[in-house]
Amino acid sequence: MSLIINDLHAGIEDMPILKGLNLEIPKGEVHAIMGPNGSGKSTLSKVITGHDTYEVASGSVTMDGEDLLEMEVDERSREGVFLAFQYPAEVPGVSNANFIRAAMEARQPEGEELDAVAFYKNLYAKMDILDMDRKFTSRAVNEGFSGGEKKRNEILQMMMLEPKYCILDETDSGLDIDALKIVARGVNAMRTTERGFLVITHYQRLLDYIQPDVVHVMADGKIVKSGGKELALELEASGYDFLKADDLVGA
Ligand code: ADP
Ligand code: MG
Ligand code: MG
Repeated sequence: MSLIINDLHAGIEDMPILKGLNLEIPKGEVHAIMGPNGSGKSTLSKVITGHDTYEVASGSVTMDGEDLLEMEVDERSREGVFLAFQYPAEVPGVSNANFIRAAMEARQPEGEELDAVAFYKNLYAKMDILDMDRKFTSRAVNEGFSGGEKKRNEILQMMMLEPKYCILDETDSGLDIDALKIVARGVNAMRTTERGFLVITHYQRLLDYIQPDVVHVMADGKIVKSGGKELALELEASGYDFLKADDLVGA
């Protein structure tokens, strides 16, 4: 069981951004993608989840054998792929608790109701892991939240929805070290053999707290290098200059 991306070409109008990307994330593993700004990391996460800005020219994305590209955005999310955005959106007028509850209700099997008592018990337990104040449940989604609070709230949504595959796109950007540790604690609490993660980050720091099984380097719309977690440390030390050096020798 895996999320498999095969020779994916995608972009906007006539501008290619992803140029033959291959990636396989088996359940139970955490894969990190690092890479220079503009290499297409966010585009990849949005193509997987079905953002309508991007057009897929060729290639495939399958989740446990199912064709994701054939599905509408909400169907992909119901089937189990979740994206925590780099810039989480505000949803004015809808409380956090109701937002999460509605999303969970949409995932209930036909004819089964979500038990309200169990829901709140579950919600509070997860908020405790994330050090979130109970007052967050009644506040409108992300409205007036600080950057760190929005990110924590995204992780809370993810923990409640229990997706099969979780994608985090620079969830660490703008977080101080304490907030980063809390986000990592939430993600680590979700790690099981039944779930895969794609953690996109520009910095190695997050990977001190969310230890990846595999690290990939993305450049110019492709995965150009893959390795173990030590690759992230190498990148931190030497930067992405090796990408240019490789170009020179035509690798
Ligand atoms: P990364 O997340 O690695 O920084 P992005 O996926 O955000 O990279 O962007 C890859 C390239 O595609 C960049 O050159 C960016 O300017 C361009 N791009 C991405 N989305 C859009 C968009 N909606 N409109 C115009 N250009 C875009
Ligand atoms: Mg960027
Ligand atoms: Mg990005």
